Amino acid sequence: MDYIRTDADGQLTLTQSTDFLMIPSCLYGFVNDSTSTGRSASGRTVIRFSGSLQADNEDLTCRCCGTKMHVNNHPGITLRHLPFGGYLSDVSFTRTQYICPKCRNTRMQYVSFKATGHRITVELYQYVCDLLACGTYTNKEIAELTGLGKNVVKSIDKARLQELYTTPDGKLIKPTEYAKFLGIDEFKLHNGHRYATHIIDMETGHILWIAGGKKKQVVYDFIEHVGLEWIDHVEAVACDMNSDFQEAFEEKCPHIQPVFDYFHIVKNFNDKVVSEVRKDEQRRLYEEGNIEAARALKKTKYILTSSRETLQKKDADAAQERVIHKGSSLFKTEDIVRRSGYEERYDQLLRENQLLFTLDLIKEKLALAYSRTDECPMSEDIISIMDMCHATGNAHLLWFERLLSNHFEGIIAHATYDISAAKIEGINNKIKTLRRQGYGYPDDEYFFLKLFDMSRRDYVRNPKSHKFCD
Ligand SMILES: [Zn+2]
Repeated sequence: MDYIRTDADGQLTLTQSTDFLMIPSCLYGFVNDSTSTGRSASGRTVIRFSGSLQADNEDLTCRCCGTKMHVNNHPGITLRHLPFGGYLSDVSFTRTQYICPKCRNTRMQYVSFKATGHRITVELYQYVCDLLACGTYTNKEIAELTGLGKNVVKSIDKARLQELYTTPDGKLIKPTEYAKFLGIDEFKLHNGHRYATHIIDMETGHILWIAGGKKKQVVYDFIEHVGLEWIDHVEAVACDMNSDFQEAFEEKCPHIQPVFDYFHIVKNFNDKVVSEVRKDEQRRLYEEGNIEAARALKKTKYILTSSRETLQKKDADAAQERVIHKGSSLFKTEDIVRRSGYEERYDQLLRENQLLFTLDLIKEKLALAYSRTDECPMSEDIISIMDMCHATGNAHLLWFERLLSNHFEGIIAHATYDISAAKIEGINNKIKTLRRQGYGYPDDEYFFLKLFDMSRRDYVRNPKSHKFCD
């Protein structure tokens, strides 16, 4: 076969003066007779390498009866291969089908470069795995890059993750290292009606266990999974006050100290106190005929539940944007004004409303309490918060007082076990990102494996453009 071309204008030419006579393909046994181009279903150019498959020294004994098999026919097969930039490629060839003359059992010639279970080459399968392992691309993007269907990419990814994180009998791998602090939390699954629970190593952020449901049973199953020797090394577990995970740990492993972390306490305060007080106040103002003040409270949930630090940051960002876009028609001036002055508005709300002012004090006091590394000052802070709640006589704040009182020991334990809220928040963000990217991942098992994998790499928020920074 002659691969030397002298008439190729603008084409890559493979000559015998180099070691490679052909484009390296790793398609062992494939003999390329002709090459043509066609179109894929989506209209992309497909380079088709056609040819045949060399016979190898396969054992042709029938596996059923031991008779030597004969050639029956030569059916064709097409396998999608690596893309060349924007072009797709496939290899098309015939292979031999053998038949047993005695029991009519048939067998297909073995193709060493065909990925098991898929109509694609091993090389393409490997390339998809490499792209998936980057963690940079969504399945949709990989499907676009490789010309494969989204479901094919998903099934390759699932198999890849199963190999990495599950044992041959389909169970999650056991943690390889001991953990000192655990974190347990529940999250909503794709449809928002069902829940799942994850248990993480608070120091590494790795998910150690993930299962459907939000029941104590998840904790029992986890303890059985890791074994009592492993759980002996655990000192504390961070959890939400409004869950019964803490009881499950106390039942099975009384040596583990439950700790109620900052992330959840603030979440409870914002969701069950600030939001409710705001709604009540708005109603009261309407009833009193103070329509203007009631309107001012509308749409303030974000402002009231954010920390002062966040508001200051938002204002600074908006100010920065104003500088960048000065004279640019991209953003209208009023747009930018609307997106600044958060802190100013916050202070105005506090001036106008005594109860909101108390909430602000409590929020700041909570942050202070959770910065303590000694249980004594922390318990003083918490007690003074409880007093402040009590003094208002407000039903929602009285509820919060009871919540603090009922979980006092686990709250002040935070001073001893410095458990950062960042890991819990990080996992929550990852779950949200993944749920968005995957359009809901209706396959729970796949979703869990994805999370398991994602917790083992650094979280990348949409990288900020550095265009304006220098
Ligand atoms: Zn046979």
